[in-house]
Amino acid sequence: MTAINGAVVLVTGANGGIGTHFVHDALARGASKVYATARNPREWNDERIVPLALDVTDPASIQAAVEAAPDVTVLINNAGILPSSTGILTHTEEEIRTNVETNFLGPLFLARAFAPILATKQEAALIDIHSALSWYALGGIYSATKAALWSATNSLRLELDPQGVHVVGVHVGYVDTAMAAHTTEPKTDPAELVRIVYDAVKAGEYEVLADETSVQVKAGLSAPLEALYPELKTTKA
Ligand code: NDP
Repeated sequence: MTAINGAVVLVTGANGGIGTHFVHDALARGASKVYATARNPREWNDERIVPLALDVTDPASIQAAVEAAPDVTVLINNAGILPSSTGILTHTEEEIRTNVETNFLGPLFLARAFAPILATKQEAALIDIHSALSWYALGGIYSATKAALWSATNSLRLELDPQGVHVVGVHVGYVDTAMAAHTTEPKTDPAELVRIVYDAVKAGEYEVLADETSVQVKAGLSAPLEALYPELKTTKA
């Protein structure tokens, strides 16, 4: 169980979207400090919010964040990107590398860098934002990176749990932010998502399935592959 009340929270990708909600809701729940990190940090005009430069793809930037924020008790790996195309055969090589660096290697190396800090704290937690697409391959390299992060989160949990660090993986379908601006499909309100995540962290849950899409896709993994991907049947017919 990790209460956000009194926590020192670090959020990656804090300038917009879900990240900004993680910042504000943490303070509403009584966090004593929030490191609002971004590639280009902005002013927040709140003394409880510490803007901090952090590019998750840059090892030197990660090391600088570790040195600047030794009091972190809750680390939120939120930053992420979506490729502009969906086909794993048609993404550019650059898109593939950037997605792997940002969505997988970045959060993994950040978690590794902060693990020794978190392990010394009471009620420490690591929160990794995956996606429903971790379990559904229509996102091309995005799906692949989120699946890899899901797996890494599970490994991190096994290694950090004995050290008293609670590790939470979050799955959700579309959320109403700039990242999902391209679709008119139903979207979860980012404030509602963050409320669900912090409540789950407080309750000691390991995994958050924040919407019906995530629940259904996870359940679909135990069915024959054609049930999750009905287009395969169509192709063969
Ligand atoms: P946004 O595009 O609104 O925000 C993403 C944030 O990530 C931006 O603040 C961006 O910062 C930051 N970012 C990108 N690259 C880096 C980097 N190299 N280093 C540090 N920060 C970086 O998207 P969301 O808020 O929706 O996404 C947040 C998380 O939620 C992501 O991991 C995403 O994959 C996940 N998610 C989103 C869903 C959705 O439908 N929106 C659904 C499921 C999961 P900058 O301002 O510098 O570009």
